[in-house]
Amino acid sequence: MKKHLYNPVFSVISETAEELNIHAYVIGGFVRDIFLGKESKDIDIVTSGDGIELAKRVSAKLRDSHYSFFKNFGTANVKFGDLEIEFVGARKESYRGESRKPDVEPGTLEDDQNRRDFTMNALALSLQKENFGELFDPFGGQKDIEDKIIRTPLNPDITYSDDPLRMMRAVRFSSQHNFIIEENSFLSICRNAERISIVSKERIVDELNKIILSPVPSVGFKLLFDSKLLHLIFPEMVKLHGVEIKDGISHKDNFYHTLQVLDNISKNTDNLWLRWSAILHDIAKPATKRFENNIGWTFHGHEDKGSRMVPKIFTELKLPLNEKMKYVQKLVLLHLRPIVLSKEVVTDSAVRRLLFEAGDDIDDLMTLCEADITSKNDKKVQRYLKNFEIVRQKLKEVEEKDNLRNWQPPVSGEEIMKAFNLQPGREIGIIKNAIREAILDGEIGNNFEAAHKFMLMKGAELGLKAVI
Ligand code: ATP
Repeated sequence: MKKHLYNPVFSVISETAEELNIHAYVIGGFVRDIFLGKESKDIDIVTSGDGIELAKRVSAKLRDSHYSFFKNFGTANVKFGDLEIEFVGARKESYRGESRKPDVEPGTLEDDQNRRDFTMNALALSLQKENFGELFDPFGGQKDIEDKIIRTPLNPDITYSDDPLRMMRAVRFSSQHNFIIEENSFLSICRNAERISIVSKERIVDELNKIILSPVPSVGFKLLFDSKLLHLIFPEMVKLHGVEIKDGISHKDNFYHTLQVLDNISKNTDNLWLRWSAILHDIAKPATKRFENNIGWTFHGHEDKGSRMVPKIFTELKLPLNEKMKYVQKLVLLHLRPIVLSKEVVTDSAVRRLLFEAGDDIDDLMTLCEADITSKNDKKVQRYLKNFEIVRQKLKEVEEKDNLRNWQPPVSGEEIMKAFNLQPGREIGIIKNAIREAILDGEIGNNFEAAHKFMLMKGAELGLKAVI
């Protein structure tokens, strides 16, 4: 075992396994990560005998550790510091066609390695005293890691058909580590893509999110597209693909444009939801596409329609329908606004309105807009970036002056009612809106005195009598 990745808990597990007269191995992701040069805190231990008893005794020896047992899975977990150690007896699996849940029976280390998804995930390190640290690598996983290849231990048609989630995992590992899926394996994914239908959407989206969070997510999305998995799990995105030509005029391929925006933004943020905004920013382009004589291709209102499409897409993908979704909706809706600002002479009032609508998400919106520049013409890119720099500067100035992020009305509805001795009614809404508009237009300052004075004037216009 590489010295710097040796962990003292391995000696404790080794000793305890000997006391119980059973064999124990570190297996799976932790071992793979050693060869990838990555440190992992999740350790999977597989045993030739009772893994649960081993876990209990190991936990008793590790001070301040926490033991838990999961009856349904037949596994035990020991938390020790920042380590999570999972213990399970070696098992053999057999699958039936309609489910990805196998029949399980106790097995040998070899059986357990056979049921793993990829050669690199089937590596095991012995924790026996006599061969402590010896690598068990029956399928050449170490070499595959060196060669950056994803390969299944068994016939890929069996591996993928048995548990189709592995197709998503193959794409995910490829995208995370920039590995190539071995050709036969990839062809098998193409053949078995339809089997993804037996996998729960929650698990699919878990993997999809990991692809989205990988360093260059387009790697994963291109594989999903080429294997046609994307057509099955996220058909709305596939509709972005393709170019139409009319009267010799074509539009850009919005699928590859979207992937480039996603790659661009991924250099600047690890925020999953900002990356989702990049994926969805042009999602309504296919639905709003028109060819207009003398103009060419237009996508009028795609930002508005796109924003309204987000809840359905989130529902279908089983993404959370909460403030994260609202954030994505907001960014999709506003993604053209800074562009408009950068093209025209920027007025304070336009900047104020954008700040008001974007609130604290203004910086993320600017990050999205900058990622949206995908021209191949470097001069253009530089010019647009410079324009956005000016918009950012302007936002800062207006922000400092007017303090419009998370705007709260300087005069409340209650104060309006008091001032005119009113019961709740439509006049209060009218006055509140008028105050907001006057502030956004820069007619009055964003403060109590100015707003109060304006309220009195507006009330008089409506025929109201002030009582204070
Ligand atoms: P990461 O640490 O990036 O999440 P991981 O997906 O390998 O990596 P786990 O999901 O905890 O981490 O899986 C641990 C191990 O279990 C894997 O390395 C692999 O050996 C095995 N495994 C996980 N899922 C499957 C599966 N669907 N089919 C076969 N083996 C699997």
